Amino acid sequence: MVKLTFYGGVREIGGNKILLEDDKGKLFLDFGYPYSTYRVFYEEYLKPRPGAGLLDLLVMGLLPPLEGIYRTDLATEQLWQQFRRAEHYRRLESPDGVLLSHAHLDHSGHISLLREDIPVYATATTAFIAKAVQDSGISSFDQQVCYFTPRVEECLQGWKQGAYVASSSGDRQRRFCLSDKLQLREEAEQFWEKATRQRRFASQPLDDISKCSLNLRCFPLDHSIPGACAWGIETGSGWVIYSGDLRLHGRDGKLTESMIKEAAQLHPRALILEGTNVDKTTNVSEREVYDNAFRAISTARGLVIADFPPRDVNRLLTFLQVARDTKRKLTILPRDAYLLKTMRLLKPEIPDVTGEDSLVIYQETTAAKSPATWLRKIYEECASKIVLSSDVSANQGDFILCFSFWDLNELPSIRPRAGSLYVFSSSEPHNEEQEMDFWRLHHWLERFQLRSFGLPVERNGEWEIAEEEKGLHASGHACGPDLLRIAREIRPEVLIPVHSERPEYYEDNLKGSGISIILPVANRTLDI
Ligand SMILES: [Zn+2]
Repeated sequence: MVKLTFYGGVREIGGNKILLEDDKGKLFLDFGYPYSTYRVFYEEYLKPRPGAGLLDLLVMGLLPPLEGIYRTDLATEQLWQQFRRAEHYRRLESPDGVLLSHAHLDHSGHISLLREDIPVYATATTAFIAKAVQDSGISSFDQQVCYFTPRVEECLQGWKQGAYVASSSGDRQRRFCLSDKLQLREEAEQFWEKATRQRRFASQPLDDISKCSLNLRCFPLDHSIPGACAWGIETGSGWVIYSGDLRLHGRDGKLTESMIKEAAQLHPRALILEGTNVDKTTNVSEREVYDNAFRAISTARGLVIADFPPRDVNRLLTFLQVARDTKRKLTILPRDAYLLKTMRLLKPEIPDVTGEDSLVIYQETTAAKSPATWLRKIYEECASKIVLSSDVSANQGDFILCFSFWDLNELPSIRPRAGSLYVFSSSEPHNEEQEMDFWRLHHWLERFQLRSFGLPVERNGEWEIAEEEKGLHASGHACGPDLLRIAREIRPEVLIPVHSERPEYYEDNLKGSGISIILPVANRTLDI
């Protein structure tokens, strides 16, 4: 009998943390950062205290109280004494690993808190994106997926009680086991083992998935970040398939089609399937995004700003094509250039930042005097590609600037001419905080007299995109009818919906299909 316990991803989009237990071993299916639960208690200036170790996360219910799986530098014996009578407390000895579906933080973020010797199983692309994102960003202690700075409990001078402070012993890397390790080139392995932040860095060589005590299958598929996969686990009750996040309508939809066929051939006992977009009836394809973006940009005069989700490399490539076809230069930020360079280590078909004529890199106006190692390398290796705000300002009609809301700060240096275009190629706001950001974004556009295209506008409390401006964003998730087709074709005995605000959709629509639907309950165990 296989046991599945759902510590996250139940009636919420993201935060997946599913424990699978079988005679042969124990595995977590993702170990994500639960954004929606965080948002209930925290915001930008009210955050869990890094100095409190795991205390805040355990007390606030953001992390399951499973003694034995977390980093010992964040949770002492004393801390655990407080939680041994807590609801859902359990001692969990040596899990065999985490099967990571992709590098979005709502699936990977809390891996940061796990013991470093618990291996993370992933595709090479997922592992490399996780490292590139961490190298080039500011990651808080609960988002250090690939490597982390150990903390020590110290009694600071003048304080009566101790706190967990960052130690100076250097960063330590986690053990990653790759589904496609054999294909790695030497250059790629070097990237993995190199520190780009701290001088001292205890790296861990990459391993492969064959050493797992359970028999695994990794199915690459299409999502809004490269490297995404579904996992198959052979258990005493039969195969369990975990979908991660997926879609059929993206550039790599064929991968998802192959996954469906191969998973069906295993005649799985259970399918754990995402349901983000169950209420959508159609999809916008990446091809349509290209057509609509081209239509808007080819007639634009002055500067064009393109706002699309970070790490969505496919979208970046779509806008690169638009840039080529409209004779503009796609202007990306150094962190995007770093991501493209990293991905090219694995996929030679990714454009070469230094050689691609239609690509330039924007250097922030108030760049730090001594940039981090990764940034200095980008500036050195791509010196001929760097443009400044003054370059963009002087020749506004030559550029498509890849900026999001968070980069608007640069506009006072660029001074876009009135009538310049802001193309919005991302999702509409999903919560009040995001609505506030949209409200601010509209004010920025007004201030600089920019036109927008594809931007949601508030009407009677609802944010909507004007009919004639729709079709600029291809979601990373399959729509309802596609999800039903995936379920019917894989045809598991049992379907367990996760990562959805309306899992009943599957009950309502799969009646009489021969598939039984089980809705998981948070922190409860299902015997399958
Ligand atoms: Zn995702």
